[in-house]
Amino acid sequence: MLYVCATRAASAVFPFGERVSMARRKKIYEGKAKILYEGPEPGTLVQYFKDDATAYNAEKRDVIEGKGVLNNRLSEFFMTGLNGIGVPTHFLRRLNMREQLVRACEIIPLEVVVRNIAAGSMSKRLGIEEGTPLPRPIVEYYFKDDKLGDPMVTEEHIAAFGWASQQDMDDMVALALRVNDYMSGLMYGVGIRLVDFKIEVGRIYDGDYQRLIVADEISPDSCRLWDIETGQKLDKDVFRQDLGNLTDAYTEVARRLGVMPKQATHLGKPKLIN
Ligand code: UDP
Repeated sequence: MLYVCATRAASAVFPFGERVSMARRKKIYEGKAKILYEGPEPGTLVQYFKDDATAYNAEKRDVIEGKGVLNNRLSEFFMTGLNGIGVPTHFLRRLNMREQLVRACEIIPLEVVVRNIAAGSMSKRLGIEEGTPLPRPIVEYYFKDDKLGDPMVTEEHIAAFGWASQQDMDDMVALALRVNDYMSGLMYGVGIRLVDFKIEVGRIYDGDYQRLIVADEISPDSCRLWDIETGQKLDKDVFRQDLGNLTDAYTEVARRLGVMPKQATHLGKPKLIN
């Protein structure tokens, strides 16, 4: 059914139990898993988490009910923790089940990946068996360009093409390693190994100064998370490799971290009660 609203403040409750603002707001950007809308105050954006899952540069795609709700909560949890230990992020506050208010920033067109254990593209590229611990955390950069399949790049490319300065790169590595320490410890505490993850970094301006903050999301969509005891995958590889139910895996991560109630009954569609 199409709702047409007359007033800016109107809202409606949709089948997932969410209160969705019906105000017509400006869409700034739509990606594979999230949408960014203009925020209520200058310098803010609303980040909406979709249920869409994609892998292999969007060759594999599906809609996984409840994924957006889980990632909204998990990203809030991780970024609130990071803000709390002085690692700046774009997260301001959660607005509802699928949306959070974030600081608007200029996204640096790079994916910064940190690896603790060989997996995924590193295993393929270098022939290192998946699961091999690395001698130290390794930071890699990928150029954000879907058409090119996000190619790996070096600091030389980044400096030569002006995507970021050497100072930015030093700051990005420092940020990424602090995120790695925080997330590794957090996960280890609940019996999960942080194998690798990706962050995106944004630039914000404070008067004459600029600084870098962690942006986008931190969630099981952007991390590899393995159960320490069993090796079970609790991240997007469950979808990439058809290993089972993705929502169950993400719910398990959220449950262990105490982020979601044990029975997250509100994730699915409402059931008719006779
Ligand atoms: N990753 C991501 N988005 C991307 C590519 C990678 O979030 O577009 C994450 C991925 O989930 C993993 C880490 O970055 O935690 C390293 O991914 P990898 O380079 O191994 O690529 P993949 O095997 O995922 O294609």
